[in-house]
Amino acid sequence: MTTHDWTDAGFATRAIHAGQDPDPTTGAVVPPVYLTSTYKQDGVGGLRGGYEYSRSANPTRTALETALAAAETPAGAAPAHGSAFASGLAAEDTLLRAVLRPGDHVILPDDAYGGSYRLIARVFGAWGIEHTAVDLADVDAVAAAVRPGTTRVLWVETPTNPLLGISDIAALAAVAHDAGALLVVDNTFATPYLQTPLAFGADVVVHSTTKYVGGHSDVVGGALVVADGVPIPGGRSAPDGSADVAAAVRFHQNASGAVADPFAAWLTLRGLKTLAVRMDRHQANALAVAKFLETHPSVTRVLYPGLESHPGHEVAARQMRGFGGMLSFQVGFEATALDVVDRTRVFTLAESLGGVESLIEHPGRMTHASVAGSALEVPDDLVRVSVGIEDAADLISDLEQALEPRVSP
Ligand code: PLP
Repeated sequence: MTTHDWTDAGFATRAIHAGQDPDPTTGAVVPPVYLTSTYKQDGVGGLRGGYEYSRSANPTRTALETALAAAETPAGAAPAHGSAFASGLAAEDTLLRAVLRPGDHVILPDDAYGGSYRLIARVFGAWGIEHTAVDLADVDAVAAAVRPGTTRVLWVETPTNPLLGISDIAALAAVAHDAGALLVVDNTFATPYLQTPLAFGADVVVHSTTKYVGGHSDVVGGALVVADGVPIPGGRSAPDGSADVAAAVRFHQNASGAVADPFAAWLTLRGLKTLAVRMDRHQANALAVAKFLETHPSVTRVLYPGLESHPGHEVAARQMRGFGGMLSFQVGFEATALDVVDRTRVFTLAESLGGVESLIEHPGRMTHASVAGSALEVPDDLVRVSVGIEDAADLISDLEQALEPRVSP
């Protein structure tokens, strides 16, 4: 459906227009929700616009896939390839099936999102995929973990969930490419507005669009954006004979079928349009909250890459255009952390992140319970907040009252 080429436009313009030309039939300014499973053929094989069956392709999903690819394509690069899935983990699962074979090895962060770790270690582990969890801020340690001829994927998350660790995408891309492996970046926390991993040599970008891209805590989804012309590691081909990762992902998206449904695609596209303005507010609020927490006597450590005290601040400043809306902090004791998350009123106690409303949670017992007892276990006094776009003063006073020491009975 797209006719105009938005490649040279700025980020917000691409997010609002790429893949979203007015509907050719009615002129509808917003891409319609194509709630149809199938399409009339003009004679056998006479497809209109290539649409045949909605698992294979649906115009609302195409609009989202085009817009996400445009949002992640660096200036001057060949257009990347977007695909939208039913969840972030469905996107990850599809990518890993497309490029890995039994006996392969994956390197991933030692503080990766727990669900990504569970997928790689426990689901793919049962299919003969091995993994090593490494501190990705230590590039030498990553290089030492490479198993020549076997390591096929270097999985990067920066910033990480929930410890806000930062790693150097360009340096890790060099390690991955020397090893003949793919450099995959989970860009969920940063979003394409603040970080463009393909510009630093990444081959594939992964998103849980459930988070900032959707932006309103009302839809679950995921996406892959693959750079143009990336060969499948190990000189392999996809089951349909194609040799590049984008084609393999397309094949597996249809073959496995965990696609975004039309309404989820529409909601996600609607979120993407306002990503830039939301992120500006998210990060202004997050910095204000981080600075407040840094001075609070009950807080032992604040993890926010926008603070100069953060060990990854310089790398983040180099590869990001801002520091995002996520931060975590430690309060010394698990009981205190559990108490704080229970006492906030503006911050809602809930999993997930990236919506307009502020959320608070205890990763050890909630989002990251699945990594308890593993190398990825998180500190039990850790509190994670997704700083929303409410008024900063209300957010700070809410945390202030929640951190107020309780009078002993
Ligand atoms: N990656 C990151 C960094 C996440 O935080 C999450 C979910 O929390 C995912 C991937 C998985 O996405 P989804 O929950 O949409 O499957």
